[in-house]
Amino acid sequence: MSHYKTAIHWFRRDLRLSDNVALRESINRSESVATVYISSEWEGDHAWTGPGRQAFLCGCLDSLDKNLDHIGGHLVFRKGDAVEELGRLIDEVEAGAVFFNRDPDPYGAEIEKKVRELCRSRGIDCCDFQGIVLHEPSEVLTGGGTPYKVYTPYSRKWLDLEKPECVETVKAIRSPSGLGSLPAPRIENWGLNFDSELLRAPGEKAARQRLDLAVKESIGEYAEMRNDPFADATSHLGADLRYGTISVREVYHRAEVAREAGRSESVRNSINTFQKQLGWREFFMAVLHHYPEVLETDFNADWRGLRWDDPGDGDKFVKWKEGRTGFPIVDAGMRQLKETGYMHNRVRMITAMFLTKDLHVHWMHGESHFMQYLLDGEIANNNGGWQWSAGTGADAAPYFRIQNPWTQTDRYDKEGRYVKRWIPELEKVDPKRFTKPPEDGRPLVSDYVLPILDHKTEREETLLRFKAHKEAQQ
Ligand SMILES: Cc1cc2nc3c(=O)[nH]c(=O)nc-3n(C[C@H](O)[C@H](O)[C@H](O)COP(=O)(O)OP(=O)(O)OC[C@H]3O[C@@H](n4cnc5c(N)ncnc54)[C@H](O)[C@@H]3O)c2cc1C
Repeated sequence: MSHYKTAIHWFRRDLRLSDNVALRESINRSESVATVYISSEWEGDHAWTGPGRQAFLCGCLDSLDKNLDHIGGHLVFRKGDAVEELGRLIDEVEAGAVFFNRDPDPYGAEIEKKVRELCRSRGIDCCDFQGIVLHEPSEVLTGGGTPYKVYTPYSRKWLDLEKPECVETVKAIRSPSGLGSLPAPRIENWGLNFDSELLRAPGEKAARQRLDLAVKESIGEYAEMRNDPFADATSHLGADLRYGTISVREVYHRAEVAREAGRSESVRNSINTFQKQLGWREFFMAVLHHYPEVLETDFNADWRGLRWDDPGDGDKFVKWKEGRTGFPIVDAGMRQLKETGYMHNRVRMITAMFLTKDLHVHWMHGESHFMQYLLDGEIANNNGGWQWSAGTGADAAPYFRIQNPWTQTDRYDKEGRYVKRWIPELEKVDPKRFTKPPEDGRPLVSDYVLPILDHKTEREETLLRFKAHKEAQQ
């Protein structure tokens, strides 16, 4: 194995010192390592991110910068085209190799191809590692070597595979001195502003605290509690997994230790259910990897060309985004998203189905809105969640299974605690009234809107559209 005088570790979505295979290897195999983060150059609105996510990213980078400093390293910040910037840095430090963890998403993979080419052209090594998932898309295939399109058999195979162990946390690093660096990025760099307090603290330490808390308090009851949006008893590790402030291996193994020590069958099953959710993450990543066209069109070709309404028709899309539809559970979810950069999974499904099946707006509009607000916005999971809800995706809800927002409220927020948490003007309203349209035809309170549509009518409309499309295809 080669040994280098100087190597580069290119940080991307692996913003941590613990269980970072590429970083660890770069240190083991070189005298000194230049660590770099290259930020993007766009400015203003972006369809796939927004101020909250960028602020969270900045926080994660600050924390990484400090952690590296603490162990003798130095994080170099650059901005622009990743390949050009890496090329410059290779020259500056006379690097013998570039190390990075592979990104399963198609944009990341495309840049990696160019970086491999760059290294080849400079005659240096390109050393890439598996660090973002437990199993890469090419590892989980059917007996015939093809990708799975359905989650259950995928998850069986995924669970059966031996899980890679974590590598030791990096405790010391030597970095070349005197390298030019931009200041750590701030959201103003992207022309953005962000005022509200972030509810999720960014960085590796905060991520580990969330994991500790989840292992101690929530994953043992995950199966029973995960659908209660007010209890909010899930791990909240989505954004940490997105930016890699904690590794999915560590999350899986900590859960496994807890599962083995579980005091009852119910606790062990719950933890297993939690582990399987990590499998959903990798299923959607595999779908995106094998079928990158899902970002442009419906996964299920049968539904391509289906009739959708223009989101600009009336102001229904705006009302959905702002949480002013008159459906309390939908509005509560959309307000939670806007205020905190998070929405509970059950409510993500309800709001997504509402946009696609009640408002007949194409899932891509909702997909983009979620990416702009969710701190855990992850292209693959978000696309998978949206196409699942719209009925067009891999292993999606069949088109005729349309959730009724009123009955969903009765089932998952019977006491109206979630609704009241996010719509304070409804504080004094009897929660039974959140489970059906107002019978007297009057608003629940004077400053809350009447439902903007009749669910039964729009449900029929959706069924007609899907059936008409199906018939037209035959
Ligand atoms: C319309 C829609 C959009 C979504 N967009 C995203 C997104 O942008 N990013 C994202 O990470 N998840 C997304 N999800 C999936 C899920 O809602 C979130 O992963 C979850 O709510 C995050 O909270 P948590 O970290 O507490 O999850 P937990 O329930 O504690 O689960 C642990 C981890 O498992 C993974 N996971 C859990 N459920 C799913 C799932 N259904 N699909 C894929 N991965 C899952 C996530 O990485 C999550 O952090 C979406 C779901 C829907 C229906």
